[in-house]
Amino acid sequence: MSDFVSALLSSDLQLIRGVPKADLHNHLLLGMKVDRISGLSGRRIKPFQYNGNGIQDINNWISEQYIPVLKIPGIFPKLIEAGFQQAVDDGITVLEASIDVGFGNLSGIPPEEVVETLRSAHQKVAPHMIFRPCLGFPRSLPVRKLLRFFEPYLDLNFFTSIDLYDDEMSQSVHNYREIYRFAKQMGFRCTAHVGEFGTADQVREAVDALDLDAVQHGIAAASSPDVMKWLAERSVPLNICPTSNLVLQRVKSYATHPIRILFDNGVKVTVNSDDVTLFNQGVSEEFLHLFQAGLFSAEELDGIRESACPQSPL
Ligand SMILES: [Zn+2]
Repeated sequence: MSDFVSALLSSDLQLIRGVPKADLHNHLLLGMKVDRISGLSGRRIKPFQYNGNGIQDINNWISEQYIPVLKIPGIFPKLIEAGFQQAVDDGITVLEASIDVGFGNLSGIPPEEVVETLRSAHQKVAPHMIFRPCLGFPRSLPVRKLLRFFEPYLDLNFFTSIDLYDDEMSQSVHNYREIYRFAKQMGFRCTAHVGEFGTADQVREAVDALDLDAVQHGIAAASSPDVMKWLAERSVPLNICPTSNLVLQRVKSYATHPIRILFDNGVKVTVNSDDVTLFNQGVSEEFLHLFQAGLFSAEELDGIRESACPQSPL
């Protein structure tokens, strides 16, 4: 019996944390517990509460609770280190985590410093972790503006993937075709948030239009056998975050989460944290929830874990 299987069977969170795992859907500045942000900033940060308004509730929380923290001089490296520390404590050995392409502009921190901060936090806190830095593009911004933010990062040769997030309904994915085609030519891995609030057909449309290597969420695909077959044939993985889906009321319970349907239809799935700050769960807790809800056997979850981090060192 593998260490992970026996850790799940005994529902021992510490043992689960001790087994190597990947987190391929992580927004690094929202990667630590909310209490940690309070501790680092010396301010009382209110935990996120969902009020039924989709991504708008997250954006409201960020502007009310988090933007003032980000303006504190010198806090950025501390927050990034806290994001890495959370991943280390969770037993993450492969981390694909994004930082917003417009963050430098918002905070007045130049792109060179953003990159250097990420690089040194990785070396300081998690030198053995495989870190795949990702640049996140907010979908509500015009493409022209995003290209302007993107440009200075290209010469720095640091980021390895791009992601599209924020309000899925704000504009057509086709508007991002040019930016994604360019990024692919430059060697970036291409991912996008889709099928979280949208439909199965929109998942297929985005994968097709943007030539995606992976989908963030994508759970709506479970409602269409056609789309699942299409994703399975192309081996496009869905990086799923169960608690995020539960808190944002995309699913009713862990026990009915569509990750099971996707898995049974041959779609490659991974289990991830999304935003520890907002949802308060690491990847270890996510695996435990899926197991305790009876959605997967411990062996099946071990297979999902392993397929996301095949060559992970500890
Ligand atoms: Zn996300």
